[in-house]
Amino acid sequence: MAVSDAARAAGFIEKTAELSVAAGAAPGGASLVGLTRDQLKDSLSAIGVPERELKMRVAQLWHWIYFRGAKDFAEMTNMGKELRAKLAAAYTLARPQVVSEQVSKDGTRKWLIRMASTGPLDKGAEIECVYIPETDRGTLCVSSQVGCTLTCSFCHTGTQRLVRNLTSAEIVAQLIVARDAIGDWPDAVPPEGAFVPNDGGRFVSNIVFMGMGEPLYNTDNVVAAIDVMSDGEGLSLSRRRITVSTSGVVPQMERLGTEANTMLAISLHAVRDELRDELVPINRKYDIQQLLDACRAYPGLSNARRITFEYVMLKGVNDSDADARKLVQLLKGIPAKINLIPFNPWPGSKYECSDWERIERFSEIVYRAGYASPVRTPRGRDILAACGQLKSETEKLRARARMMAEQGIGAEGVYAVRDGE
Ligand code: SAH
Ligand code: SF4
Repeated sequence: MAVSDAARAAGFIEKTAELSVAAGAAPGGASLVGLTRDQLKDSLSAIGVPERELKMRVAQLWHWIYFRGAKDFAEMTNMGKELRAKLAAAYTLARPQVVSEQVSKDGTRKWLIRMASTGPLDKGAEIECVYIPETDRGTLCVSSQVGCTLTCSFCHTGTQRLVRNLTSAEIVAQLIVARDAIGDWPDAVPPEGAFVPNDGGRFVSNIVFMGMGEPLYNTDNVVAAIDVMSDGEGLSLSRRRITVSTSGVVPQMERLGTEANTMLAISLHAVRDELRDELVPINRKYDIQQLLDACRAYPGLSNARRITFEYVMLKGVNDSDADARKLVQLLKGIPAKINLIPFNPWPGSKYECSDWERIERFSEIVYRAGYASPVRTPRGRDILAACGQLKSETEKLRARARMMAEQGIGAEGVYAVRDGE
């Protein structure tokens, strides 16, 4: 029995994390791509740049890395030759490796990205990142962890054994990789025939933390990554166009609002505790009422900054008229949008997606109660790219976790998951 099945059968909320990467650590080290201003400062100090120059040099590096997308120190012509040589000797501007790129008929792109190794026995964790272009926006769905310690019963990521937090640099690097691939830098052009927004704005205009992992179990790194992504001198994404999705880590929600000031999405999925305990097991720690109280208290909440409630449509499980009515009743008084997500089945999953008529009926009840209730259009189905179901490498990850467990090794920062826990 796979560990997650065992864990689920035994009713465990989460898998055990045995190791973690320290917040702000940069495994693989030598690349400057994705680092925060403080980390860049330390990197410059380490090669002997004098204290009095540090601020200026960080600003220069920042501009080249995050505004221009430089891939080579030689491009940094406003920095002296000697410094460029020193930088090139000590560091790189390497991106995580793109193992594969799949392009859907609808223009959605999915990249399998291999992170730099964290130690001699680690070949590099793999995560997926998805780009969803529309005419007036481009949304990048990023991961915050490799796998997830939680075990939501309808989520494929929840079945993966190998778990570690991504560093802030690894989170930022997903945006850099995407912008490289779609030519979203000054002077760059998109690949031939690529579908990108045509409104004159940026090709990546929005970020959703809806890939692998629970962002609020990695809050330090997520907050640091958002700082880099939204810095006006560099990547310059609006915080209002960044959405962090959580399964309901109640104690971290206020921090997210105060420190990252982003939009919030809640994976609600059920309106009764008994059912939510099963679908989203973290509900056993923080129940629906505690979760909604934390939503009401979310800093910056207003009609202009509504919370998105995600609700996956599971046939015969959570999709009745009574569920829809209870949903709107629960959310009363909270500025909210409700996002109905057709369930994306995966091999071995025990659920089916609700019928289309059921989803429409559910949506109608929610809409009549005054809530916008868009049904998330499946995108990139031909390349299995749906957010929340980034999955194709699972088997490989499993095999690797098994191998590591057998050999009694764990790359630094990789959670080895014990069977039966
Ligand atoms: N861990 C965070 C963010 C990642 S999951 C969270 O749970 O919110 C992003 C969204 O995709 C969540 O709402 C999640 O519940 C949903 N999701 C996961 N698996 C899915 C599936 N198979 N079909 C549809 N939505 C799914
Ligand atoms: Fe983790 Fe989110 Fe999947 Fe739950 S839905 S297992 S929290 S990634």
